[in-house]
Amino acid sequence: MDHAANVKGIARLPMHSHYDLAIIGGGINGTAIAAAAASAGLSTVLLESSDLASGGSSNTLGLLSGDLNLLDQLAFDRVRQHLKEQQTAQRRAPHLVHPHHCFLLDQPEVRSSRRVNTGMKLYRHLQCHLPLPSNGLAPAKLLRKPQLTSYPYIDCSFDSSRYVIAQALLAANQGAEIFNYTPVMSAKRCQESRRWHLWLLPQGQSQEQTITTKALINASGADTGNLLGDTMQLESRCQVTPINSISLVIRDLDPAFNQHGFCFQAPNRQLIQLIPCQLPQPRTTAAAPLFRLSCSTPPQQLEQQQQLQWLLDCVNQQLITPISRDQVVSRSRGQRNLCREAWLKLQTETILAEPSLVDFDCRDGHSPLINIFSSHLSAHRLMAEQTLEMLSPYFDDRLSRDKIQSHAQQPLSGGDFDHTDLSGFIERLEAHYPQLTAGLLQRIARQYGSNSRKLLGRRQTLKDLGKKLAPDLYAFEVDYLLQYEWASCAEDILKRRCSLEHLCSAVDVERLEEYIKAHKQCWSQTSE
Ligand SMILES: Cc1cc2nc3c(=O)[nH]c(=O)nc-3n(C[C@H](O)[C@H](O)[C@H](O)COP(=O)(O)OP(=O)(O)OC[C@H]3O[C@@H](n4cnc5c(N)ncnc54)[C@H](O)[C@@H]3O)c2cc1C
Repeated sequence: MDHAANVKGIARLPMHSHYDLAIIGGGINGTAIAAAAASAGLSTVLLESSDLASGGSSNTLGLLSGDLNLLDQLAFDRVRQHLKEQQTAQRRAPHLVHPHHCFLLDQPEVRSSRRVNTGMKLYRHLQCHLPLPSNGLAPAKLLRKPQLTSYPYIDCSFDSSRYVIAQALLAANQGAEIFNYTPVMSAKRCQESRRWHLWLLPQGQSQEQTITTKALINASGADTGNLLGDTMQLESRCQVTPINSISLVIRDLDPAFNQHGFCFQAPNRQLIQLIPCQLPQPRTTAAAPLFRLSCSTPPQQLEQQQQLQWLLDCVNQQLITPISRDQVVSRSRGQRNLCREAWLKLQTETILAEPSLVDFDCRDGHSPLINIFSSHLSAHRLMAEQTLEMLSPYFDDRLSRDKIQSHAQQPLSGGDFDHTDLSGFIERLEAHYPQLTAGLLQRIARQYGSNSRKLLGRRQTLKDLGKKLAPDLYAFEVDYLLQYEWASCAEDILKRRCSLEHLCSAVDVERLEEYIKAHKQCWSQTSE
């Protein structure tokens, strides 16, 4: 069954009241588990209090990395695992996950050159020596000390919000029910039924709705602690400790950055990444694309503004032309929850190679609860596999190992085309729609993958696309997102479905909101 082809409008209330598995949280981990569980045949419901990907999963640097922090801590197995996951993600969603070239700067005042040199040789070995750019040198004119060695390597950046949507679509295509704007108000184990009872309050409803489930997953990201304490009145074995991460979008960098990423070493040994954004670029500044600058664990004692300045200072020490505050287009500072073990490590070792953790609780012997503490995007698929393996004893023979692992090779929604040929895929789309602009088609191809044809249908000319609602955004796409991708307001569309927010003015947003309001009214009249 194809969700996008068959669903006429997104349902806003659960269709059933009993499920095998309920997942709280529609981020990268919740949707990965939903896709895996539904593929394995469990009746699955996913409940998200706001929009899908509105938590940590959309505030990221957008790096599916092997993680040089882990390498620094000699956690070679985990680096190898993450690099393997990078390749799997690229195969499953070639439109959303893209390798790019990076340079790690040798900064002997932070780490010894010998350590960095050996580490990077090992990293390249673990990456199976993927080909590097032809000259392999960072543009010297960008650096304050051009004589510094820089080590080239390959990393993978991805559009994390659309990746979450693609996982949710895969889950829905496999029969999972997905509800955004549906917070779980409370959850309790019922001794009699040996099931979890969940109370939901979908947005716009005045009465709570109850569902039951055999197993429950808490994938609520930074809210894990609150959910356990306030919503479930439970304590976890893992003490939850929030940390703040920071990520900035930067404009007008020197064109010599030329789509390369950089990894800098902060004085406190943290790694700071500067990588090209996956966002569509403003036409007027095509020569100066947007970049993201991020640090996963900046000094926690600093206030928000101080953290921003710290980040810029660390990078500006290395660059010949400093990045000014005026170049910061937007900033996200999100909270992540760590288990106590990771937090202690952070206190003692400064560097953090955060262990991801799955905390299992089945104190009544019948209705398991799994809390997800994961702070690494690359771990999401393995996390989903591990979660289902833990659940398998509670579902007799319905969750065999083969079944669980079979989802690993499944492409995400839109990802079922040759993963080595994205440019060929885009060329074929352009040939099929010769009258539409190349910029629009490229964005659509990169965001919707093989669903682009379904989205565009027979629309051959600009006129066929409907009213222009914002730069690069026409009514036909908005209609599609409202109907098939759970979008319900301008922010859902501009920020998490199309990544167009940086191109839009307040007037564009208002126009889009009005269109959505009229569309919803028209919809509710036709369904009455
Ligand atoms: C600024 C920043 C930068 C980062 N950069 C990177 C990076 O480059 N690489 C990397 O690997 N990791 C990075 N991370 C970490 C990464 O983003 C997280 O580890 C990951 O997104 C966690 O995903 P999740 O699905 O567990 O949680 P989230 O994506 O946070 O999803 C949890 C969801 O649960 C929902 N929820 C909460 N309570 C309820 C409730 N009662 N009912 C229903 N729903 C509820 C929330 O609304 C939220 O959408 C970064 C984090 C931040 C904050």
